[in-house]
Amino acid sequence: MIIGARTPGDLEPTPETQAFWDAAAQGRFLVRHCNACDKAHWYPRGLCPLCHSSDTDWREGSGKGTIYAFSVMRKAEPPFVMAYVTLAEGPTMMTNIVECETDALRIGQPVELVFQPSKSGTPVPCFRPSTPA
Ligand SMILES: [Zn+2]
Repeated sequence: MIIGARTPGDLEPTPETQAFWDAAAQGRFLVRHCNACDKAHWYPRGLCPLCHSSDTDWREGSGKGTIYAFSVMRKAEPPFVMAYVTLAEGPTMMTNIVECETDALRIGQPVELVFQPSKSGTPVPCFRPSTPA
């Protein structure tokens, strides 16, 4: 089954995630990073979920990752792919895989960020199989 683009649901920015959505509107993918334990985390929040430090800031994400797990929602209209993608920065995020052939998807497969506009036009981070270099 071939999956094309997808229109994700709208997500409400919060004070903690407003900077993320502002950057996404400019085509930039931010990842929250903790200066105390030097690790990135997802979803973005002010208090590090790994060490509880509030010394966190935004870093530019690479947009690279690998598929940790995925499931093809074949009966949805239109069908889509739910997935956990492990970012190159470390954390794993729930997302959608788009622009893919579902039978060719594999655990551990390299994927790259592609923003998909929601109904209201907000760019939502999704992933597609990486194009060979
Ligand atoms: Zn931390």
